[in-house]
Amino acid sequence: MPFEMEKVLEISHIVKQFLVPDGRSLTACDDVSLTLYKGETLGIVGESGCGKSTLVKTVMQLYAPTAGAIYHRGVDITKLKGEAARQNRQHIQMVFQDPMQAFNPKMKIQDIICEPLRNFAIIKRNQVEEKAKELLRIVELSEEFAERYPGNMSGGQRQRIAIARALALEPEILVCDEATSALDVSVQERVVKLLVKIQKEKQLSIIFICHDLALVSKLCHRVAVMYLGNIVEILSGDAILEAKHPYTKALLRSVFSLKCKEEIQLLDGEVPSPLDLPQGCPFQDRCVECRGICRQEKPVLKLNSDGHSIACHLISA
Ligand code: SF4
Repeated sequence: MPFEMEKVLEISHIVKQFLVPDGRSLTACDDVSLTLYKGETLGIVGESGCGKSTLVKTVMQLYAPTAGAIYHRGVDITKLKGEAARQNRQHIQMVFQDPMQAFNPKMKIQDIICEPLRNFAIIKRNQVEEKAKELLRIVELSEEFAERYPGNMSGGQRQRIAIARALALEPEILVCDEATSALDVSVQERVVKLLVKIQKEKQLSIIFICHDLALVSKLCHRVAVMYLGNIVEILSGDAILEAKHPYTKALLRSVFSLKCKEEIQLLDGEVPSPLDLPQGCPFQDRCVECRGICRQEKPVLKLNSDGHSIACHLISA
């Protein structure tokens, strides 16, 4: 493994349900368990609405789970309250898809970058400029950006500012929620290379949410595939073409590639409503392999000796 097998985060049987106005429950995460190791990039992929963003918002303590636990270094962070919860946020930081939504357009970049440090009283007002310049160097931006405002720069530069701000507290875990999806391909590549460089230097653990399977397979050590609130497969990023779960295979066939000789096949059927989860396998209504048992019993995620996990009645890892 290119990363240490030292657990930094354990997501354990997380269920997240939301009550809707008519009194029913919408299940966004349905018994999700994942482990993140030190220095690892763990990708989470799946169609829109599969629950990946809800899962990371639960990790970020933006949502309280309905059931389950999330352990950071052995401490269940879902049970932390008040000042203990606030202090723990230093260890897990997030980069969003659109940094403009998270930035105050009237604040200078140096104040935006150093805001988390000021909030935790780690630096004084007169140290902001120097610290901002240090963080700008880490994300390979000129020191002159310290005096600028967020409206006065490109999307790629703003995303570097967002990364600098997320790194300010020297977190152990960085959560990137579609953080490169809105960028042009060439800018995206530079931001991804920067993330890889920073990760190696700082031994960061990264959760990378993305719908781009090609990017995830290149960037991530492991990839977890989510469908309808469930993890259906976990495999190495460089083995993504050897995926076995019918849903992952269908996702791969639906991706456009210039090198691919096979025709693109759209994934048939709609994702069932999370308000009315089917009994049995969540993928049953779209799966060409579906059998009787798939409609009766939900398959459990089984791990084999080489670290490949699959939740399917018909396929072993
Ligand atoms: S359990 Fe059955 S329905 Fe689900 S993916 Fe496997 S074969 Fe398809």
